[in-house]
Amino acid sequence: MPTFVSFSRLATSRLQSCASSALRPSLQLHLRASYRPNLYQQRPLATPSWPYIYRSTPSPNMAPSLDTYFKTIDDNAENYIERLRQAVAIPSISADEERRPDVVRMGMWLKEQLESLGAHMEARPLGKQPGKEHLELPPAIIGRYPAQKDESKRTILVYGHYDVQPAELSDGWNSEPFTLTIDDKGRMYGRGSTDDKGPILGWVNVIEAHKKAGIEFPVNLLMCFEGMEEYGSEGLDDFIIAECKPGKFFQDADAVCISDNYWLGTEKPCLTYGLRGCSYYSIEISGPGQDLHSGVFGGTAQEPMTDLVRVMGSLVDTDGTIQIAGIKELVAPMTDEERGLYKDIAFTMDNIHESLGSKTTIFDDKERTLMGRWRYPSLSLHGIEGAFSAPGAKTVIPAKVIGKFSIRTVPNMEPEDVDKLVFAHVQKAFDGLKSKNTINCTLQHSGKWWVASPNHWNFTAAAKATEKVWNIKPDLTREGGSIPVTLTFEQATGKNVLLLPMGSSTDAAHSINEKLDRKNYIEGCKLLGAYLHYVAEEPMNA
Ligand SMILES: [Zn+2]
Repeated sequence: MPTFVSFSRLATSRLQSCASSALRPSLQLHLRASYRPNLYQQRPLATPSWPYIYRSTPSPNMAPSLDTYFKTIDDNAENYIERLRQAVAIPSISADEERRPDVVRMGMWLKEQLESLGAHMEARPLGKQPGKEHLELPPAIIGRYPAQKDESKRTILVYGHYDVQPAELSDGWNSEPFTLTIDDKGRMYGRGSTDDKGPILGWVNVIEAHKKAGIEFPVNLLMCFEGMEEYGSEGLDDFIIAECKPGKFFQDADAVCISDNYWLGTEKPCLTYGLRGCSYYSIEISGPGQDLHSGVFGGTAQEPMTDLVRVMGSLVDTDGTIQIAGIKELVAPMTDEERGLYKDIAFTMDNIHESLGSKTTIFDDKERTLMGRWRYPSLSLHGIEGAFSAPGAKTVIPAKVIGKFSIRTVPNMEPEDVDKLVFAHVQKAFDGLKSKNTINCTLQHSGKWWVASPNHWNFTAAAKATEKVWNIKPDLTREGGSIPVTLTFEQATGKNVLLLPMGSSTDAAHSINEKLDRKNYIEGCKLLGAYLHYVAEEPMNA
């Protein structure tokens, strides 16, 4: 999963001082002009037959060589763990300038691993890092297996990232973060184990196991591995868009698979078909020429902070209801079919209470809680710049304060429509105060939501593969957050994109003691391979 900064990609902005947005308007215009204007409405999510995924079970005649393949994976499990150990040992931290050589070393190591298996690999430069022109961005490692395209087979494009979040033992890790440490429950601790080195090595292991077992590789595999995901995927959007054009490296992709998210819980696998977008705003209120003392000016000056708190307080209710007129009307209505999906999802209120660390949920039932996270918008207040926030009692009246809030967006909320409603609401709320202060509300950045059709053969193939490996039908999930590269791949290829997670909800990606369970890794290697077999054979009208 990306960090906070990365949802600013694909951003539009009116705040030209915002570093991320200054780079993006031309790209956004390009995307808007060349791609379908509203993907969601053209491919309705809920149809009477939906989800198709649960109306078909794998036929025993499909993917006949899988049992041999699975046995090869089991027989070589220790080698795959050793491979993960070597990868975790390279501290490829993209956010740390000093570690840039390690990020590049990791990319080259990955390239060599795949080359030694016969893949055609290239390390493509992405140019200088924006804002840090003395730094070269780590290359995109792209490849093709088999090296020569087999015209009789489908082509699947997979994505992952070889960089990791920072980690230090002193942050609170129980073991060295860059030494893979396996406990007696098979939990493999190490930075990058689950995010995203385990999954990318999954693809390497899939190729190796096919060679070892002498099984014909079922598809043409295109690979795109980047080294800046944890730092906003700088340089990648333009690269992907360029390489999906006719005659370019990714042009033949028939479908896309990304393994860079997690199961909803710890027991049941899932396929992910939706992500929320995010529009992030600032409200600046100013009045006095400098900060004031309340003993002198309290009761004489109109105070920016008082106005800001009242305007921000008008945005959302305690029960999470967004108070901005018109927002509700933009949200795609819930259908009975869609509502029916939520009850079987493996998730309990105890799960959310545990991850929340409290029982302060808005809703008391799991269905409405999941809907609140995945398919309805939410508005969060993040902070106030310029406000007194240190401990103690300081009697300052801040002269200028900037409130920050964001809206997680869902189908069919067009970012431009949301902006208009937000600006109108803020202006109206402020006008109602009859204040002599000055207000300015701006969009910092926005990234759009994404929803794919889980009826597509890419998803039904993945569902069959999951059932074959885990012996259970996967949950169909969405995520409350954003993985912006997903939308980029969908728009650039015009093809279906599937999120196929390997790790589970307790893996602590981005946190201390990140881990990947041995079982998830090894069965995950089986899953990725099985997916390629099913996706090679799945009827395209699925
Ligand atoms: Zn990730």
